[in-house]
Order: sequence, then C-alpha cells, then structure tokens
Amino acid sequence: MTDPLGSRLADIDERIAAAAGSVGRDAAEICRIVVTKFHGAELVRRLSALGVRDVGENRQQELNAKVDELHDLTGVNWHFVGQAQTNKARAIRRVASVVHSLDRARLADAFEAAAGPGDPQLDVLIQVNLTDDAGRGGVAEADVRELAEHVAGLPSLRVRGVMGVAAVGVAPAASFARLARSAEALRSAVPDARWISAGMSGDFEEAIVAGATHLRIGTAITGTRPDRG
Ligand SMILES: *Cc1c(COP(=O)(O)O)cnc(C)c1O
Repeated sequence: MTDPLGSRLADIDERIAAAAGSVGRDAAEICRIVVTKFHGAELVRRLSALGVRDVGENRQQELNAKVDELHDLTGVNWHFVGQAQTNKARAIRRVASVVHSLDRARLADAFEAAAGPGDPQLDVLIQVNLTDDAGRGGVAEADVRELAEHVAGLPSLRVRGVMGVAAVGVAPAASFARLARSAEALRSAVPDARWISAGMSGDFEEAIVAGATHLRIGTAITGTRPDRG
C-alpha cells in the first residue's frame, strides 16, 4: 500500500527535523540530497514525484547517462559528489548544479576552462580529507585555504563551502569537528562560503549537530544499492 521509498524518505526527513530541532536549527535551512548512484534513472523519477529536488551522483558517466535518460524531467538539481577527472569536467559542468568534490587546483582550472560563454557560475565545495591517509579523496586540511584562494580567483566558479566524508573507525562527531575547523579556515579566505556538506546514511544526525547544511544520503532512503563495482 504505502510506497516503501516514500516512507523511508518521510522517516529520514523526520529524523533530520528532530536532529535540527535538538540543536535549535531550522530543518528548512538544510538541503537533503538523495544519492542515487548505482540505481537506475527510474528511481530518480520516483523520487522526483515524491518531491525530491536534490539528487547526488558520484560517477560522471552515470550522472550524464541519467540526465540524458531523464531529459523530460524538470526541477531536479544534480549534485556531483565523486572523484572527478579533469577530462570529464566539461561533461560534469554541463549538467551539475553543484560539485561537492573539488580537491585540487588542476580540477578547478578544468571546470573553469569548461565554462561556456554566458554560463552561470558553478557552485563548488572544497572536499577536505578528514583522515590521516593522504590517498583518500580531498585536500589536506593544511591546504584548504590555499586551494580556496585559487578557486576564488576563477570567475566562473563560486566557492560555497567545504565537503567531507567522516573517517572510518572514529566517532563521526570527531570527523565533523575537524570539518568545522576547515570550514572556518575557508571562511577566512572566502567569508560568504558557509555551506558544509557532511553526513551520509549512517551519520547525518551527528553532521546536523555539527552544523552541516547539505546532507548526502543514499541507502537510508533508496534502500540497498544494486552491486556495481
Ligand atoms: C554514496 C555516497 C554517499 C551516500 O552514502 P550512503 O551511505 O548510502 O548514505 C554520500 N557521499 C558520497 C561522496 C558518496 O559517494
């Protein structure tokens, strides 16, 4: 009878509201992005019918394929949250409203070069590596400010804030506290860059308490992801 997708969505939105309320925040100021990676385009259509406006993808090919398949669907903002190669910047820029995973100057330059005449500015977040493993995605905390200054100098990009994925094996709150410090470092370079993209299915409540403005929630809403390596 009830659509399980709709009830999971409603349940998550209730938990978002409760977590926001617990720290005196207004849930209306929090953007809940549904990450639909590995699922078919049809899921995005169903989510859209349920009122979802913000959808996330972490692979360029999948992002572009879904946008093409859903060309008749309006009112969806696509968020790119994955690792991007510089030679894919143009394809991503063509469809994404926000890129959450900017982590190096060369990639920023590629997005800048991909801007067409009259294109709106592309909203970007600096992804910060919250682990002590340099092989992970994201810029090192010590380099956030320098990268932000570089990106702020590119006219077709707008630095909106930071993005982070909580480290495995530590309390999410500790990761999000680190990210909050990077957010501050960023604002010392770009004062109006206030977005904090943090929190996934397993830790979005902690992220809200720590000040997240954008949540990237997959499986808790979509259900288990189909396997795709
Ligand atoms: C897949 C993904 C998510 C969502 O993960 P879930 O645990 O399914 O909520 C969030 N952020 C990024 C960068 C992802 O790749």
